[in-house]
Amino acid sequence: MLLAFTPWLALVFFLVDAHAETSGTAREKSVAITFDDLPHANAGTDGTDQPSPQSIQDANARILAALRDHKAPAIGFVVESKVRAIGPFAKDILKDWTGPRLTLGNHTFSHADTNTLDIAGIEREIVDGEKTTRRTLKAAGKQLRFLRFPYNHTGDTTEKQKAIAALAAKLDYTIAASTIDTSDYVFDRAYERALAENDTEAAHRIRTAYLMHTQQQIAYYAGLNEQVLGYEPPAIMLLHVNRLNADAMKGILSLFEESGYSFTTLEKAQADAAYRRPLS
Ligand SMILES: [Zn+2]
Repeated sequence: MLLAFTPWLALVFFLVDAHAETSGTAREKSVAITFDDLPHANAGTDGTDQPSPQSIQDANARILAALRDHKAPAIGFVVESKVRAIGPFAKDILKDWTGPRLTLGNHTFSHADTNTLDIAGIEREIVDGEKTTRRTLKAAGKQLRFLRFPYNHTGDTTEKQKAIAALAAKLDYTIAASTIDTSDYVFDRAYERALAENDTEAAHRIRTAYLMHTQQQIAYYAGLNEQVLGYEPPAIMLLHVNRLNADAMKGILSLFEESGYSFTTLEKAQADAAYRRPLS
């Protein structure tokens, strides 16, 4: 089992890698960085403290600055109802996501779970979900191509899976995949609570634990892909726009670099044959 990541295994991988590199057979490791729940994961949700316009702007600006510094391409998946809940300045934030190496995708209108909707309802969620995103991309001379369903639910039965795939094709969308999920929103909840209580020590501990967990998850999913596919296809990292990632983004990008990954676009990552395999 390659599920545990130990320094010993890391050394073996390093040696194997180095050997493969010299013989010219190594596959370069790459990762596409993707963000869900734009403009901000905690905006427009029931029962939680709404982030201020300033903190929404700040989180996006700092995530984008880290991506720029590391020359990492990224795609941000937009929830239209959050755009409307935030108000007019949300459009300026989305515009910032159309700069060099950046693009946007559709994350549906209201972030509803497709498992609870029929196909007509899912179509409405997609079509209503793209309004601001399509307009913003068009103004930047870019095309809307990717769609990611909330919770990555692409059909809970084979029949529904086929119907959803046909619907996405009809609407000219590619469904976005993801291979690394760190449950960052769980850490963010604790992080927000610590910051609300001005407990900077706890916030620091949470950030450190989050980065360690991220490092383990990167290695865990890489090992899993090796086991299932026999190689590591371009990875797709799923993150959310929140304060934790704004504070940890440089660290996350450095983790990938230190593990030998280069950054790629979602489009290039999903061109790998692994992403054409049937889901079940
Ligand atoms: Zn989401």
